[in-house]
Amino acid sequence: MAKNKHHKEERTFVIIKPDGVQRSLVGEVIKRYEKIGLKLIGLKIVIPKPEVIETHYTIDPEWMRKTGEKNIANYKKKGLTPPSEDPLEITKIVLENLKKYMTSGPVVLMVWQGAHAVGIVRKITGTTEPLTSDVGTIRGDFVLDSYVMSDTDGRAVRNVLHASGSVEEAEKEIKLWFKENEMVNYRLVQEAILYDVDLDGILE
Ligand code: ADP
Ligand code: MG
Repeated sequence: MAKNKHHKEERTFVIIKPDGVQRSLVGEVIKRYEKIGLKLIGLKIVIPKPEVIETHYTIDPEWMRKTGEKNIANYKKKGLTPPSEDPLEITKIVLENLKKYMTSGPVVLMVWQGAHAVGIVRKITGTTEPLTSDVGTIRGDFVLDSYVMSDTDGRAVRNVLHASGSVEEAEKEIKLWFKENEMVNYRLVQEAILYDVDLDGILE
């Protein structure tokens, strides 16, 4: 969290991907982030353009390398030979598949604010591959895709959500998808019980 900012001001960015919208999971997803105490400050539905998806996934200059490396490690862990030893080559394919996936229908864009928003949302969302995401997470509970299936079929793995991986990534992604005046600053009544130091407003 940046200096001079209270933890409760941390923001994260979420996309309910086309499969999440088609599976009617919009309400379920919002409910889970809402219930933990986060505040919804931006919300809209759009059909993304492929260029914006490319910009979104390459905002972190390290994403191409990290995702490729994660992928190669995954193949090796399963005793399989990766399609290439070059992480960037692998990610190029992932990115093309992602563009097809993410532009196939409407998506819901959201900005959530609250203490540890980035980490909390990633925890509730679950890890990338639904087959191995923990039970209790959104990806673990609501979708059954796997790398072995998406690889066989030559497509991106369908996992319902995107959620920012770090505070810096979130700031850049929010700027890419939302204008400042599309977000609303307001106080939620429940913030008093989550964050107030003295809790002196409860008893009559
Ligand atoms: P996350 O969305 O969990 O942050 P990444 O940033 O590594 O995951 O990847 C972005 C998205 O690209 C994933 O959510 C998934 O839809 C897709 N993806 C990543 N790796 C693969 C892969 N090996 N095969 C198919 N799709 C992938
Ligand atoms: Mg990511």
